[in-house]
Amino acid sequence: EREELLKLRREPDITKDGREIEIYANIGNMDDLNSVLYYGAAGIGLLRSEFQYLGRENYPRENELFLAYKKIAETMGEKLTVIRTADLGADKQAEYLNIPDETNPIMGNRGIRLCLDRKRMFKAQLRAIFRASAYGNLALMYPMISSEEEMDEIEEIIREVKIGLDEKGIPYKHIKTGIMIETPAAVMISRELARRVDFLSLGTNDLSQYTLAMDRQNPLLRKKYNDHHPAVLRMIQMVIEAGHAENRRVCICGELAADTALTEEFLRMGVDCLSVVPACILPVRKALRQVDLSGDDKGA
Ligand code: PEP
Ligand code: MG
Repeated sequence: EREELLKLRREPDITKDGREIEIYANIGNMDDLNSVLYYGAAGIGLLRSEFQYLGRENYPRENELFLAYKKIAETMGEKLTVIRTADLGADKQAEYLNIPDETNPIMGNRGIRLCLDRKRMFKAQLRAIFRASAYGNLALMYPMISSEEEMDEIEEIIREVKIGLDEKGIPYKHIKTGIMIETPAAVMISRELARRVDFLSLGTNDLSQYTLAMDRQNPLLRKKYNDHHPAVLRMIQMVIEAGHAENRRVCICGELAADTALTEEFLRMGVDCLSVVPACILPVRKALRQVDLSGDDKGA
């Protein structure tokens, strides 16, 4: 069986009727880089950049971040890498971050909210990403967005970062940006959010827990936690439609993207790409190559 799957390493990500859906990889550290290329992923659809911030005594310096992004950009060559800005807080804690105890950390000061509170940290990461952009094909993505005002703030910070780089004559490329759709609020305003960026990416892990109002890590809820709930699937469909209405690509990068029981349904909804852990690339490729969408005009 594994032999069979390995034969798919170099096969294209196309459905039986010839529609192309890209499969990207999710990675959370540098060690996963090799497997991304080994399994023939289209690129990295979600780099969980938190790994450089956790398990240490102090904030990583801009240059340390830059060197890691540069290495990834160079390793990936032409292939795209989507760097998600630090998604810290909630279950991703480090002492030096000094995040006060919260009664509801899952709904607390996390993701983009924390970055907008720690502008020096955020700017250092953005500068590192822009500097590394000169060495490959990078994109930028923001986690836990729930309002347009957050995008206003981010856009202002990006302007400042670029001015700073220009003043020093540091080269960078134009890089595409995306928003993670992982709060119900973002789903409801996904059309407005789509206008502000180049692509959307559904974070179904958080989206399902916020939609169901159930902590995804609460063991008491394990049996009740249903991420195939029609509410979750309808939200995904809404976001794909909203993104497409604005001519934006819409991907899924939460764990649900690797659920082969849903591959056909996602393709029928018109999803443009799926991003999964490296070990799931071949199983998902296999599933999607068995789907026949002919007679279906969605996304055609
Ligand atoms: C998600 O929420 O689906 C996601 C991809 O982000 P993370 O799992 O890192 O919260
Ligand atoms: Mg998330």
